[in-house]
Amino acid sequence: DMEKQRDGERWRKGVVVLVAAPFQGHLTPMLELGSILHSRGFSITVAHTLFNPPNPSNHPHFSFLPFSHPQHSNTPISSHNLTTITSTLNTNCASPLKHSLLLHMNQHNVLCLIYDGLMHFADSVARQLNIPSLLLRTTSVTNLLAYHALLHQQNLPNFKDREGWREMEVPNLEAVRFKDLPNFNCPDSEALLKQLKKTVGVRPSLGVIFNTVECLEAQYINKLHQQYLKVPIFAIGPLHLMARQHSSSSSSSSFLKEDYTCIDWLNKQSPRSVLYLSLGSIASWDQKQLTQMARGLVNCNQPFLWVVRANHNIIVNVVGDEEVKKGIEERGCVVRWAPQKEVLAHEAVGGFWSHCGWNSTLESMSEGVPMICQPYFGDQTINSRLLTHVWKLGLQIQYNNNNNNAIEEGEIEKAVTRLLVDEEGKEMWKRAQEMKHHIRQAVTQPAASSYNALDSLVHHLLSLCL
Ligand code: UDP
Repeated sequence: DMEKQRDGERWRKGVVVLVAAPFQGHLTPMLELGSILHSRGFSITVAHTLFNPPNPSNHPHFSFLPFSHPQHSNTPISSHNLTTITSTLNTNCASPLKHSLLLHMNQHNVLCLIYDGLMHFADSVARQLNIPSLLLRTTSVTNLLAYHALLHQQNLPNFKDREGWREMEVPNLEAVRFKDLPNFNCPDSEALLKQLKKTVGVRPSLGVIFNTVECLEAQYINKLHQQYLKVPIFAIGPLHLMARQHSSSSSSSSFLKEDYTCIDWLNKQSPRSVLYLSLGSIASWDQKQLTQMARGLVNCNQPFLWVVRANHNIIVNVVGDEEVKKGIEERGCVVRWAPQKEVLAHEAVGGFWSHCGWNSTLESMSEGVPMICQPYFGDQTINSRLLTHVWKLGLQIQYNNNNNNAIEEGEIEKAVTRLLVDEEGKEMWKRAQEMKHHIRQAVTQPAASSYNALDSLVHHLLSLCL
């Protein structure tokens, strides 16, 4: 009866429709936002593509509204096709979404639409249907400022003629150098600029939600608000902690099945001894890099948990070397997909070697785990710069730029020792504990930033019900 009563109330409050992007690092925070708003009494409908759909049975409290036809069903996502896939979605999905929404609105009281920043076509749909809208950014505020900087680069007078310009700080964006600006591996730079302009230019009527925490980026949040984005900004992250704190559901939104055997393995390791190594859901190593990585890791003498998405037998095949094979068996645990949040929370983990995707960055900081940063593309270079130079919670792996960005010989051993053994790493660990504390405060204390921003967001949504 309680449940029925609450459902009745939910009906009164109305439906929030989430337009999710079909990528792991975007879908997860969007569904977490859904759980949080559901716990505040809103009904949640997840509008999604048939390509990389969420699994409805993991989220019994939500309704699901598929739209569009699978266009890339057999294409594995990589850094090389991400921009094209996104652009195709934006070109093709407006009318399918509109159609599905119209049907949904016949039966439900739709209050507002919250769309992922990559799915900016949804903004025009919301306008056509007269639905108020919010945008969810699953990357940092600093990254959005970096997009602005990229778009303005053309206007900077001849900066590319100056010697060493790549090492220089971007005007108006302290700590970020030109070489840290996002790069998209996209051969068609015209198309890319067009995309960037669109995503940077959308103005959802109710404001923008960021999966970030004020204590991480306060100065950049102010700058963004003053210079570019006059609509309300709600910094309510990290969403995974907010969802844990403010809602009861904790369902998985992983496309791949999480392998929990690595937790048993971690249980057998000593505290803070393990290096956790993962590149997220898109970036990957080629065979040469895999081999180099395996050799480096085996030389380190520290236990390691390694996520190799493609197929972890590949390591055994690639690395013909018997000694390396033996080293991996002795000290390593290799899985295709790990329950990352549990791994980072495990006391055996002492460091995280990461590509610095924004979710991984937030998850690591939320558990006080310092990082080795190996950024590949997109916002990862920005996150890596913030980690190494602003928050001082990570160290960057050194590349040999003369050799196609290969890692320098001996560099892996050096980095792992610095992080897990040296005094430098111990200092970093301490700073990471402090950061964890600040982040947790923001999420749990009623007057603190993320908690407050969520209240303000809910208030905005409730005012739509009147
Ligand atoms: N992740 C996971 N298991 C893994 C590797 C990654 O659950 O073995 C999750 C991780 O917790 C994060 C997401 O996948 O939430 C990756 O997002 P991120 O923004 O870090 O990187 P992306 O995949 O977008 O490059």
